[in-house]
Amino acid sequence: MVHHAASRRHFLQLAAGASALPWVASCASAGPAETLEGETPGSHEVRAIGQPMPRGVRLPDTPPQPRSADSVGFAVIGLGGYALHQMMPRFTRSRRAHIAALVSGNAEKAATIGAAYGVPEDARYSYDSFDEIAADDRIEAVYIVLPTGLHAEWAEKAFAAGKHVLCEKPMAMDPAECQRMIDASERAGRKLMIAYRCHFEPYNLRAMELMREDAVGDIRLIRTDQHYNAGPATPATNWRLSRALGGRGPLEDYGIYGVQSALYLSGEMPKLIGARAFQPAGDPRFTEIAAYVGTMMQFPSGAVAQLSTSYDAAGSNRALVRGVGGTLTMDPATNYDGIEMSLRTGGATEDFQLGDSTVQFAAQLDHLADAIRDGTQIKTPGEMGLRDIRLMTAIYTAAAENRLIAMNPDGTMKA
Ligand code: NAD
Repeated sequence: MVHHAASRRHFLQLAAGASALPWVASCASAGPAETLEGETPGSHEVRAIGQPMPRGVRLPDTPPQPRSADSVGFAVIGLGGYALHQMMPRFTRSRRAHIAALVSGNAEKAATIGAAYGVPEDARYSYDSFDEIAADDRIEAVYIVLPTGLHAEWAEKAFAAGKHVLCEKPMAMDPAECQRMIDASERAGRKLMIAYRCHFEPYNLRAMELMREDAVGDIRLIRTDQHYNAGPATPATNWRLSRALGGRGPLEDYGIYGVQSALYLSGEMPKLIGARAFQPAGDPRFTEIAAYVGTMMQFPSGAVAQLSTSYDAAGSNRALVRGVGGTLTMDPATNYDGIEMSLRTGGATEDFQLGDSTVQFAAQLDHLADAIRDGTQIKTPGEMGLRDIRLMTAIYTAAAENRLIAMNPDGTMKA
């Protein structure tokens, strides 16, 4: 009985949520939903605006020093949670990258952080004085760690100032913005790298290798889950819930790890995409974006991927690859730390112990520094970011139009 009541409530929510977002199709909708056009913009301003110091930030006791004479100086733009809790402390573990400057709209926060990280006062820029970095030789690269809706604008400004760019994922809001960033990088003759840290994380790297070695045989199924509960918020108080700053749903920010995993574990691009998105009715968090996105991909080999992501479910971060001869399980799969991975083949299970996952943060900094100094190839370039945003466009289109979409190998939709 309980089960039936819950199922019915779920069905009603699906039906009620169907009309609020034109690009979110509902299982209950009779025909194809409207197209992507005509969306209402988010209420959050698409402008770089200073924010308070995030909670619980631990600052260095003594200002860190560059570890090598040829270390690349980075300006960090966007002093929020990820920059302060994860990336900035990890610069000290980089052999060839250091924090040379800060860019913030909150002068008091920049002063506190600048003092702790040893960033001189004249290397603390505001959003208004950003263009002056062009004349600052201490800065060779800009690390963009702003909300997604601001990535393209600030990458273009950084290239115009003659700097290299490390841009956080997701690369930008749509393929056109991604292309603008790539074009600006080419015009400036400067590098563009997307901060896909899992390409530098030991377990994910080993997983890619195992798949290349055919460790599970022909792949039949890939499943990924990226879920968490966003907690009480609105688009005005959490940019991730804002259509204008965060995108169309959890796919861009969190589900992107599932999309990436499906591609680097299968080693293929999808030939077919289907999807569903869900917006619960009456939830102030989801007035502008979907709460849940489920995706099905089929690859040329025949392998199928099932990806699910949400901002409205108990936390989960997993990947599974099932082949004809075994199963690879990663749980958690793409966290900052504590990744667990096992391979089951022929009745035996191997649990991997590959060391400290947190090396991924500094390794990606060194990767860009090496590309700048030695001209080495970037393995997560702007083109990869563009590819993924194209796939997300196809996923949301599949959901909105209630159809399977045939795909080109470059991630664009077939006409
Ligand atoms: P956050 O809200 O904690 O910080 C964003 C910061 O951007 C703010 O503190 C502020 O300094 C600045 N900002 C400027 N204009 C703003 C505006 N209009 N609204 C809100 N903030 C504004 O966000 P975050 O979690 O640090 O995410 C920042 C970027 O880092 C995003 O692109 C996100 O996808 C990415 N990220 C990546 C990872 C990863 O594992 N690679 C993890 C978390 C976040």
